[in-house]
Amino acid sequence: MLALGDTAVPVYWRTVRAIMRTAETILETMHQRGWRITGPRRAIVEYVLAQDGPFSAEEIFRALRRRQPTIGRATVFRTLDLLAELGVVERIHHPSGVHRYVVGGDGHRHHVVCIRCGAVAEFAGCNLETVLAQVADQTRFRILGHWLEVSGLCQLCQREPAVSSS
Ligand SMILES: [Zn+2]
Ligand SMILES: [Zn+2]
Repeated sequence: MLALGDTAVPVYWRTVRAIMRTAETILETMHQRGWRITGPRRAIVEYVLAQDGPFSAEEIFRALRRRQPTIGRATVFRTLDLLAELGVVERIHHPSGVHRYVVGGDGHRHHVVCIRCGAVAEFAGCNLETVLAQVADQTRFRILGHWLEVSGLCQLCQREPAVSSS
């Protein structure tokens, strides 16, 4: 059990994210954080919001390079980092080792990633309260959030015969 003393803190709380859906609201928030709103940054935000599925930084860079000749990979990466911090996008660890991103859904979500084709599905309801209480108890850490990603084989890949190891 956690002792509730002067230094007691909530066992954990979920990171509550403001869901910011429109490009203008996001750009305004970036501006408030001291970012200059340039053409490339605006294009990145608009591109990201238009995506239904996962995307990589490289894909954004390639898609926008023609319209935004001044765009650089560093700008894409730094903008994605900020968008992740703002909860607009979530980082997904892809089996290839290259991070991909998805636009964050409403509320608290996690992802399951197919180890073969990289397909991503969202799920809710991780029910980690008990585990996180134990983590706080054992480590004396103040738990501020958690990151959980599940890997597996998507329905399509389950139908593919397994690659023979012989
Ligand atoms: Zn798959
Ligand atoms: Zn969770």
